[in-house]
Amino acid sequence: MQEILIQNATTVITMDDADRVLHDADVLIRGGQIAKVGQGLRTTGQIVSGRGCVVTPGLVNTHHHLYQNLTRAVPGAQDALLFGWLQRLYPIWARFGPEEMFVSAQLGLVELALSGCTLSSDHLYLYPNGARLEDTIHAAREVGLRFHPTRGAMSIGESDGGLPPDSLVEQETSILEDMIRVVDGFHDASEGSMCRVGLAPCSPFSVSRDLMRDAALLARDKGVMLHTHLAENDEDIAYSEAQFGCRPGQYAEELGWTGDDVWHAHCVKLDAQEIDLFARTRTGVAHCPCSNCRLGSGIAPVRAMRDAGVPVGLGVDGSASNDIANLIGEARQAMLLQRVAQGADAMSAYEALEIATRGGADILGRPDCGRLSPGKRADVAVWDVTGVASSGSWDPAALLLAGPTQVKHLFVEGRQIISAGEVTSLELPRLIERHGQLARALAEKA
Ligand SMILES: [Zn+2]
Repeated sequence: MQEILIQNATTVITMDDADRVLHDADVLIRGGQIAKVGQGLRTTGQIVSGRGCVVTPGLVNTHHHLYQNLTRAVPGAQDALLFGWLQRLYPIWARFGPEEMFVSAQLGLVELALSGCTLSSDHLYLYPNGARLEDTIHAAREVGLRFHPTRGAMSIGESDGGLPPDSLVEQETSILEDMIRVVDGFHDASEGSMCRVGLAPCSPFSVSRDLMRDAALLARDKGVMLHTHLAENDEDIAYSEAQFGCRPGQYAEELGWTGDDVWHAHCVKLDAQEIDLFARTRTGVAHCPCSNCRLGSGIAPVRAMRDAGVPVGLGVDGSASNDIANLIGEARQAMLLQRVAQGADAMSAYEALEIATRGGADILGRPDCGRLSPGKRADVAVWDVTGVASSGSWDPAALLLAGPTQVKHLFVEGRQIISAGEVTSLELPRLIERHGQLARALAEKA
């Protein structure tokens, strides 16, 4: 089996069960797995110098809408609150088709990879003009990232009092049929899987109570995970109380949306009881600090969640509300935002990195990822700490305080998809050119 030895790294942050941080250390990859982490390791295979580098587990992105990177910084949506922002963008998204989905997924996954991400989920909840979930799955295969796409859905259009235009919503029976089709066709539950499909109605305000419940039943039947947006901002809480007569946590619980096979994006407005519910049921949270800042949604109570035992991962959220999808930058933002709310000792650089690696892996049901220890998947990020951003740092391993925002090397399942800062799996200039063309075509008709 092929071996790769990352040799003489300045620091290896393992994120293993003992929280080991090793200096002048090596990481041996064999096939798709981590074989050994330690000092003085040898191989007859390929050697990659780790000199001047910090090695971490690949970062894990737990919430995204990849398609949105064709609508970054759209005038009229730049300064709007969540609901107004959606209403500006829905008519533009309604003109997307399979190529927009494919190209945006490729660009978004490359962007994530450059920032250290090896495993990403995606939440695709609109399927206009023949677009399908597999448009993104094919894109991920070419880029080489480990991918957890979720089959999202919206069923309540404007004519039923919902937010999205009727052309972007689907019949609930066809949503459930397509959920079955994509799980049967693309979900791989095996060890080391590169593709796991989840089910993800967009949010409680864009589908019916029946679809929320039916999706939960279907997910349990198929053994796949559940994902949605929850308790994102004050408007969201007010909507829940007005329409359902309860808070989002209670709504989720009643419909089967709690448990270790469920993760919810945002959860900015969870109250103490809801935090307790999530902790008891091991329900995961995808924390998206930049998006929460960008949309003025508030500061998620991540400190309280972590202290209570809620599993928390990190997400960049869709590019239309971030608008940058740099995952190491997102981890820094998570650290900073808790400090705004709770003081400078509220979250360390190490804890934010832990949330961005093993925290994310755990809420996606991937305890085989997110840490560097023997037997785990070989998803590894190598950060050069000899550059400008790290110069003068007394603790180069504190990457989130002073460090690079792009990786030097990146390995996914033991395959090197970034080498010396360059993407190896596809021609990046051509991808950027095509992506730009598609974005301009959308803007011209807007
Ligand atoms: Zn989102």
